[in-house]
Amino acid sequence: MEKTQIMKAKNVKEYFPIRKGIFSTVKDYVKAVDNVNFFIKKGETFGLVGESGCGKTTLGRTLIQLIPPTNGTVYFMGNNLSDISKSELRKLRLHMQIVFQDPSSSLNPRMTVKQIIGEPIKINSKLKNEEITQKVLLLLKTVGLDEQHMYRFPHEFSGGQKQRIGIARALALNPDFIVLDEPTSALDVSVQAKILNLFKDLQKKFNLTYLFITHDLSVIKYISDRVAVMYAGKIVELSPTKELFKKQLHPYTIALLCCIPIPDPKIKKEFIVIKGEVPSLINPPSGCKFHPRCPKRMPKCKEIEPELIEINNEHFVACHLYP
Ligand code: SF4
Repeated sequence: MEKTQIMKAKNVKEYFPIRKGIFSTVKDYVKAVDNVNFFIKKGETFGLVGESGCGKTTLGRTLIQLIPPTNGTVYFMGNNLSDISKSELRKLRLHMQIVFQDPSSSLNPRMTVKQIIGEPIKINSKLKNEEITQKVLLLLKTVGLDEQHMYRFPHEFSGGQKQRIGIARALALNPDFIVLDEPTSALDVSVQAKILNLFKDLQKKFNLTYLFITHDLSVIKYISDRVAVMYAGKIVELSPTKELFKKQLHPYTIALLCCIPIPDPKIKKEFIVIKGEVPSLINPPSGCKFHPRCPKRMPKCKEIEPELIEINNEHFVACHLYP
């Protein structure tokens, strides 16, 4: 693992067993993440984009060990997370945090804001109550809230304010890496913009690295440095953001990006409609998982699974159209 990399996934798989019968015998698996390889550089925002159910949230949770991988290795800050003791993993976990999609369900309705943000500090440090209060206040100010919000309950806040509380909680233990799991998709557009700018400011201030998961391509274009496109549990294209929005290689990415609306009625745009359904993750198609829907499929696409290969500088694609 290179020094510039903070996180690396090597052949990571996340399979969920499907149990049936009175003995709960494993009959099959949901292959949510299937043999994924990539790395995240220190200080960057790495975007992960794809349709609902493609495995992007599962991959984010696997990276920070909320769900240990079924197979493969995750490296974080040079440590193989499958090969360290529980106490070492516990210490490393303090450096990785997550902001969840739904701010309402991710905050305990019976706790005040001070308790929500102060709890991780109380558990993981020896600070006294007064010092914790001061730290919570500082965190609230950092995310654009103030003292008057400290003793209120989550139901007294708007969606955007709740998400700010979630962000303050994620920052409480001075993390290096944060998974942002669709953090703006439950918010109004005007609030979304403010929260995205807050993420950018915090990144500069605290030298944070983000994994930004979303299905919103405009958001990914605005916030990320590099993007990975996921389809049916696999990364099908990975590239610096500017390069990807200029030139897409994979037929799925081409179709996905042509759906971004242009706010100019004079520009006419042809939309590519991807026919067919998103494949089942229990019994995915053979070969290239996109082949039943791909307008450019060839006979070998059904037989052979394409590997993710580098075509240009840092631009990777998994498709037989490219040698
Ligand atoms: Fe289409 Fe074949 Fe490329 Fe898959 S490998 S995206 S089916 S051309």
